[in-house]
Amino acid sequence: MEAKRDDLDYEIDGVVVKVNSTALQDEFGATGKAPRWAVAYKYAARQATTRVNDIVVQVGRTGALTPVAMLEPVQLSGVTVSRSTLHNEDEIERLGLKIGDYVLVERGGDVIPKVVKVIESKRTGKEKKFRLPTTCPVCGGLVSRPEGEAVSRCIAADCGAQLIGRLLHFASRRAMRIEGLGVALAEQLLDRKLVKDVADLYALTLDDLASLDRMAKKSASNVLAQIEESKSRDLWHLVYGLGIRHVGERTAGILARHFGSLDRLAAASVGELDEIHEIGLTMAESIHDWFADSGNRELCARLTRSGVRTKLADESTREQTDQRFAGKVFVLTGTLPGMTRDEARELIESNGGRVTGSVSKKTDFVLAGADPGSKFDKANQLGVKLIDEAEFKKMLG
Ligand SMILES: [Zn+2]
Repeated sequence: MEAKRDDLDYEIDGVVVKVNSTALQDEFGATGKAPRWAVAYKYAARQATTRVNDIVVQVGRTGALTPVAMLEPVQLSGVTVSRSTLHNEDEIERLGLKIGDYVLVERGGDVIPKVVKVIESKRTGKEKKFRLPTTCPVCGGLVSRPEGEAVSRCIAADCGAQLIGRLLHFASRRAMRIEGLGVALAEQLLDRKLVKDVADLYALTLDDLASLDRMAKKSASNVLAQIEESKSRDLWHLVYGLGIRHVGERTAGILARHFGSLDRLAAASVGELDEIHEIGLTMAESIHDWFADSGNRELCARLTRSGVRTKLADESTREQTDQRFAGKVFVLTGTLPGMTRDEARELIESNGGRVTGSVSKKTDFVLAGADPGSKFDKANQLGVKLIDEAEFKKMLG
């Protein structure tokens, strides 16, 4: 494959070799982290030399300031590379990088190229040291770097860079899915002060939208319809869309199912959050802090008033989901007649259970389909309860 790499129509950075028999996959099983029946091979990263013309600072959705190297454009595995993230001040320090330096860049596992090292022999003495600004390049707000953290952040609550990031995140497909709301529209809404936060989206009128540049009446009413439609997304889309630090899609799902409503989630203590399986202390604190902020609470109240769904679509699923498989550990083996393993896993997880890769004394159930592997024998050996799909469905009700 590596010899064919350059002839492909797309970029690859390695290959994954998998055992294709599901029965054999069961025999191999998994370690705590990864399956034993698949191996990834990485090719060596490709490198090139170029000059860092400048270092600019970007402000992200969470207010994080990220220095980015503006490179003299260079070809790297078929792609023209002209910028590379430098992550944070420590990374620049570690590289010893100055503006004007020649550097080695590479594209490894990521599509995003990175600066590997400075080529000091090419220095002329005219290179300039980079300093992270002490005020936000977007809003002029104060920049703070908390003790022990690598990232500096703009702490102004009304920072434009953060607002646009929050709007786009809220409207993204996995959150509230307002497809017409892209960068250009978000920028205009903020510039014209039509929107200051995500709740303002629900106060927009057809006239507001139609008054914007390059916005025909028809597309304006399309966007409006999508905003309206987004009100009925299920609770976890909203929880994810709020953009609480450390709360990804999966966590949002866990929280929505556990609490069943935004109100109950908002009222949860750090202790209550921390007790939930898969929610760690850092996450629990971050969630609690977010809802402790009076501005954020007001935002939630306004979202609720505008008719956004803040409860699980089917509240009755919550009680069931909390108890049915709570704390139960499942292992899947063999081919199920009526559902894929991913579907089975989803059902188990959405009902509070957990799926692990190998059978042990801690396993509560082994859900076995046709041609089960060694896990079946192991379950028999340990006296773990074996169930088939029909029994599994009965348990689900
Ligand atoms: Zn700012």
